[in-house]
Formats: sequence, C-alpha cells, structure tokens
Amino acid sequence: MSKLKVLCWSELSEPKAVYPEGINGAVCAGLTELSEVECRLADINMPEQGLSEENLGWADVLTWWGHARHGDVEQVYVDRVVKHVKERGMGFVPLHSAHHSKPFKALMGTSCDLGGWREDDMPEYITVKAPDHPIAEGVTDFVIPKTEMYAEPFDVPEPDCVIFEGRWDLGEWFRSGCTFTKGKGRIFYFRPGHETLPIFFQAEVKRIVANAVEWAGNRR
Ligand code: ZN
Repeated sequence: MSKLKVLCWSELSEPKAVYPEGINGAVCAGLTELSEVECRLADINMPEQGLSEENLGWADVLTWWGHARHGDVEQVYVDRVVKHVKERGMGFVPLHSAHHSKPFKALMGTSCDLGGWREDDMPEYITVKAPDHPIAEGVTDFVIPKTEMYAEPFDVPEPDCVIFEGRWDLGEWFRSGCTFTKGKGRIFYFRPGHETLPIFFQAEVKRIVANAVEWAGNRR
C-alpha cells in the first residue's frame, strides 16, 4: 500500500520560540517519526493559501491549525476543503483552536463556540473514553502538564464517538477528542495544542495525532 499523504496546514501565527518549524512542521515531524506517511507542509502565506487543487487533490488527510487568522482564510478555499472532505473522502484533523476555523465550522454547521476558556497553564487530565477506537490504540489516560482550558458546552453536532475527555482541577470538562463523519469524509477534532505550549511534542499527543491521521485516511 502506498504511503498515506498528509497535508499539514497552519496559519503560522504560532511563536517561533515554541514551534520553530511551525505547528504544521511539528505535526509533520511527529507523523514521520511514528507512521508511514508522506507529509507536505502548507500555510496561509503560500499561493492559494496553501490550499491549491494540486495540494488538496494530493492529500489523503488534511491537518489544520489556526487561531488568530481564521478570518483571513478565503471562502473559495474553505469551500474547496469542504468539497474534498465530503465528496472525495479526504480526512480532516482540526487541532485545538481550529475549532473556530472556517472549514471546521462549515463542516459542522454549528457555531463551534466554547462554553469558556482560560489561559493559565494548568494541567488537563485526559481520560480514554473509547479504548477500542483505533485512535486510542496505544494510549491510556494521561496528563498534559500545562494547557489552555476549554469548557463545555462545545457547540458541535453530536459526535460519532467521544474518544478522549479532558478535565481540569477547577471542575471544567471538555470532549477533547471526538469524531464526526461528513459525506465521505472522516473528521477528528483534537482539543490540546495551545501555541505557547509545546504540547505537539508530547509523546501521547504525537501518538494520538498519528493514529487520527491513519484513521481519517481510512487506514485504520
Ligand atoms: Zn489556544
């Protein structure tokens, strides 16, 4: 079987001090280490915002990180991503603050608003709620030492499966990893990953993203 082709996209507003190669570069490095994949980096500053038909048509899966520049992503490319997901079955893995990205909101059809958030670098305790799901393979309950908190209610449609649940010491909780299907496409939303914290370098997070990409690309 040919290698899974993954387009790793970012708006590149993440600080270089934490992510010298961008969050898309960090995701690509983790995937390349753990999985049989071929990654291509794409970002908002490229021609067609990195979302050319050539790039999207090549990709089995698109990973997406964005935060400050959601509004700069042009609608023509949003429509293109949605079409590739729904009609061609391209997998889509929106990460952390991509909950408010235009492609995720378009695919969900809801506001994707959070119940609240707090940037205080407190731990998130992650529980595996669906241990038999392929995205949970090799993953047991774990802690991310420093996180940005997101609170429920998360305004998304009922997920197909909530695989990971996050909790914080002050009592908040969140569906931190959940799957959706839209048309032919598989989608996995993963909450951890704030841009000022090195979360995408944590072993459990890398494993989950690698599993998710294989699942979204119909290899699991
Ligand atoms: Zn954040």
